Amino acid sequence: MDLSGGEQAVTRRLAAVLAAGMDPLVLVIPIAVGPVAAGLDVGEAGFTILEANEAAAGLLGRSAADLTGVSLAAVLPRTWRVEVLEVLSRVLRDGGAAERSFEDYSGVWRERVVAVDGVLALAWREGMPSGNLCRQSLWRFSEEKFTKAFRNSPDIITISSLDEGRYVDVNEAFERTLGFSREDVIGRTSIEIGLWTDRGDRERLIASLRCDGRVSNFESRFRTRSGDILTILASCETIELDGQSYLLSLVRDITERNRMEAKMRRALEEQELIFEHSTIGITFMRDRLFLRVNTMFAEIFGYSAADLTGCSSRILYANEKDFQDMGRRAYAVMGQGRTYRGEHLMKRQDGQRIWCSLTGRAVSAADSSRGVIWIAEDVTERRRANEELRAAKAAAEHASVMKSRFLATMSHELRTPLTSILGFSEIIRDQLFGPVGVPDYAEYAGDICQSGRHLLELINDVLDLSKIEAGKFELDIVAFDPHYLLATCVRQARGRAGNRNLVLALEVEPDLTMMWADERAVRQIMLNLLSNAVKFTSDGGRIDIRVALEGEMVRILVADTGVGIANDKIERVLEPFEQADNRYNRSAGGTGLGLALVNALVKLHGGGVRIESKLNVGTTVIVSLPTNPVSPSPAV
Ligand code: ADP
Repeated sequence: MDLSGGEQAVTRRLAAVLAAGMDPLVLVIPIAVGPVAAGLDVGEAGFTILEANEAAAGLLGRSAADLTGVSLAAVLPRTWRVEVLEVLSRVLRDGGAAERSFEDYSGVWRERVVAVDGVLALAWREGMPSGNLCRQSLWRFSEEKFTKAFRNSPDIITISSLDEGRYVDVNEAFERTLGFSREDVIGRTSIEIGLWTDRGDRERLIASLRCDGRVSNFESRFRTRSGDILTILASCETIELDGQSYLLSLVRDITERNRMEAKMRRALEEQELIFEHSTIGITFMRDRLFLRVNTMFAEIFGYSAADLTGCSSRILYANEKDFQDMGRRAYAVMGQGRTYRGEHLMKRQDGQRIWCSLTGRAVSAADSSRGVIWIAEDVTERRRANEELRAAKAAAEHASVMKSRFLATMSHELRTPLTSILGFSEIIRDQLFGPVGVPDYAEYAGDICQSGRHLLELINDVLDLSKIEAGKFELDIVAFDPHYLLATCVRQARGRAGNRNLVLALEVEPDLTMMWADERAVRQIMLNLLSNAVKFTSDGGRIDIRVALEGEMVRILVADTGVGIANDKIERVLEPFEQADNRYNRSAGGTGLGLALVNALVKLHGGGVRIESKLNVGTTVIVSLPTNPVSPSPAV
């Protein structure tokens, strides 16, 4: 560049100023017209840098030597370019000096332009406290994008000197995540603020950084200002600024992510444990192929889980038809979003046939390609046990029917000769055809007649009970007057009580004028209950018979003040031939069929029997009969 002698002197003077200047300062000359070009259009103005001091070099991100002879426009930050060139052009045109302030992302700047002997001196002073390297660095990068990213990044970004590790700048995420303010940390090192839980980590990071120039996803743990420990992932890179090395670090807090990952891992492990150790067989299938099989499922069929995985379920069926039939049925159900349940005869690896309960549900009813979850259980044993139980029950039922039939036939056969015995013994006892001679014969005939009657009662009870059990007892439901029936029964019972000084009190609800039931059965029920009450109540006792309507039922209550029944016997006395072992049984006689018959007849009517009793206090038997019994009732 040609300069006159005068101009060179000026330039030297300016160069001295330039060297001493703390503020960034550059000397420029208009490009096209040489040192002085008054009247040049602003739009056309272009400037070449003559000299720049160190501060300007730092600001513009090049060495002072590199700036010399370079177009000013080329080195100015884009955001400054228009404004700076405009002021320069104005001073070039008008002469003198100009000053203006402007603000950009890196701060408030004051710019001064002075025209000195055809050279324009351009000086900047930072409006904010100067000396902030970061601003200069940022400005060096000059890219708004970077600044925005730096500011808004959810991750921590720091710039620190590589040699000492002093923070030059940190972003908001740093402040937010670690709890240190920017002012707290600028100029200090991460060690000084106690960030590293393991200081060796920083050394290792720096070592690999020096080796490779960058570090990616270095995991470590940071301590926040409040003492919390965070797990972090750091990626660092060295950057060169003004001949100095800095460390640009991007740090991501992965504490929460790690926690979630650990939780997920645990949940998965638990699921895996449940799946593997389940005592029922579970498999996940798609297109009838086993994708996942648990140990139990494989064991049911004699395979290992690995054997089955990837196989078609065809191998578990005895033949192709079974496989196809099962598939058609099950997938039709599951296709409607329902659960398929079925028991199938299947085949183990050793060829043995087993019954399997299969429960399947599609992951998505609409999309069969998403697979099906099956639960399998070997029910061979259960089915065998059920089968045996069913057979045993059928055999028992058959035996019971046979027994009842036998009893019915036998009772019938016994009654015929008994009738003759009774008739003839009565004739002899009463000596109807003349005296028998020896009076003892008449007495013996009387004993025969009494025993015969007892036998007949017993045979009748057995016959009735057998008929009921064999399902051959048919109720003859008729309408009758309960007042009359009950009165005759009570009268008979009084007769049985003889002169034992028992009070028998009958109370029938007046409204109960008609009852629908098998009259003979109701009479039998009443006679049996009353005979027991009389039998088991001591002289001077009391027997109350109360009959009342209770909703849809007629309630017949027979309460005595007799010996009572032990608690543990109450349930059993309703069974045939069961007797509560009390002192009266032996003396009072009886077979243990009375209450069983009452129970059976009441049940035939669709009613129920309840016994309340206390030893030495008394017994109350409550019979409930429906007012409108369903006829004929099924056999018990
Ligand atoms: P039985 O009276 O012929 O023995 P039941 O079936 O009528 O047969 O009665 C079964 C048993 O229940 C009786 O043996 C007796 O021990 C007991 N029992 C029945 N009714 C009474 C009652 N009113 N008081 C005390 N015990 C009774």
